[in-house]
Amino acid sequence: MSTPTNGERAPLLGDNERGQSGAGPSKARGVIWSLLTLLFLVATVLLVFFGKVFGDPFAPWLGTLPSDPNLAALAILDKAPIIDGHIDLPILVRSAFRNNVTAIDLKTKMPGHVDIPRLRKGKVGGFFWSAYVSCPAFESKDFLSATWRVRDTLEQIDVSRLLIAKYPDTFTLALTSDEVKSAIAAGKIASLIGIEGGHQLGNSIAVLRQYFALGVRYVTLTHTCHNAFADSCGLLPGMIPYHGGLSSLGKALIAEMNRLGVLVDLSHTSDATARQALAYSKAPVIWSHSSARAVHDVPRNVPDDILQLIGTAEGQTDAVVMVNFAPFFVAVPGNATVLSVADHVDHIAEVAGKEYVGIGSDFDGIGDVPVGLEDVSKYPALIAELYRRGWTKYELAGLTGANLLRVMAGAEKVAQELQAAGTPPKFDIYEKRKDIPRRGSDVEL
Ligand SMILES: [Zn+2]
Repeated sequence: MSTPTNGERAPLLGDNERGQSGAGPSKARGVIWSLLTLLFLVATVLLVFFGKVFGDPFAPWLGTLPSDPNLAALAILDKAPIIDGHIDLPILVRSAFRNNVTAIDLKTKMPGHVDIPRLRKGKVGGFFWSAYVSCPAFESKDFLSATWRVRDTLEQIDVSRLLIAKYPDTFTLALTSDEVKSAIAAGKIASLIGIEGGHQLGNSIAVLRQYFALGVRYVTLTHTCHNAFADSCGLLPGMIPYHGGLSSLGKALIAEMNRLGVLVDLSHTSDATARQALAYSKAPVIWSHSSARAVHDVPRNVPDDILQLIGTAEGQTDAVVMVNFAPFFVAVPGNATVLSVADHVDHIAEVAGKEYVGIGSDFDGIGDVPVGLEDVSKYPALIAELYRRGWTKYELAGLTGANLLRVMAGAEKVAQELQAAGTPPKFDIYEKRKDIPRRGSDVEL
């Protein structure tokens, strides 16, 4: 119970100070408080205006970034880790370990570019595991010889899921943008799965639905071969178009990807396929691992006139172009370095905008690597270089992952809307298949 007559006293004063009066102690307190306040103000002014004099150790206390770009990159990546659009660890497991997941120890040094110690050193918060298998060595003109690629793709999804499950302290399977964020918040590496080419669908949209059920969240429309859905850009210049972009089955595939919430990936596609897909897709799209053609002129890179179709204005589509590190796509032989990869990032940012660029290294899918970006432990070198070039921490956080998460969330929203509107699944059958009758009445009983 309080005493009304003691109202003037500070309620937190101790008993020994109660009832004391006179100027002596309160004057001394006043002097001490003034001195402390002055000291605090001086320290604040020194730290804010002369922080650099004291060096980078004070930077975290000030909420500013260290002046050393390498330290700044690490500080940025601590808050906004790398989410890589394309890592080929599963195909390395197929070729080097016959897909035997028990024979692999990701906690020790792996033969390629990716293992857990290096992922942690590189501040990786997530990546798409590419469940890739190659185009058929001998494909008929009708694209009918690719069906066993469905078996092979299932094996690579199996490898991805088993490896993710083998290291629950490190990896978490992520199916949505929110799951990526919560995995990162829990200190895990969010693990997404992508399929690299329509040939892996065996000409079937039903197969897409089943891949989705297994966790696949992007499908690259083509790899280096044309398929029943779309034209590829091939690897070298001079690939002759087959459909002239998307086939009608390809459009049905995109419609179904939009309905499910599977990202349309335009890496490896021909320019006509990319243009048509940008116009046709209701959802934002990605380039999971492609660089800029104006910086290095190869078909696998994205030309400026297509980069100009990316955005939120009328006639544009939201997208993220995740820059590929493959030296062959980055620079003339012998010249690929972390600086030339930064040139690609800068160029895409200049033409499309900094909100539309990301990172899709292609590690474990490339033989050679740029100087300074030798494996997944080296991402901070790229971030440091861009910081040196004037990218802010917010822009860099977009590059490292937020731009991709925005696009993912956009595609999820479109899928929810299409499903809420009762959009039915697509049941288009590839016209050249002979195993399913063209009309129901043709069924032989
Ligand atoms: Zn690729």
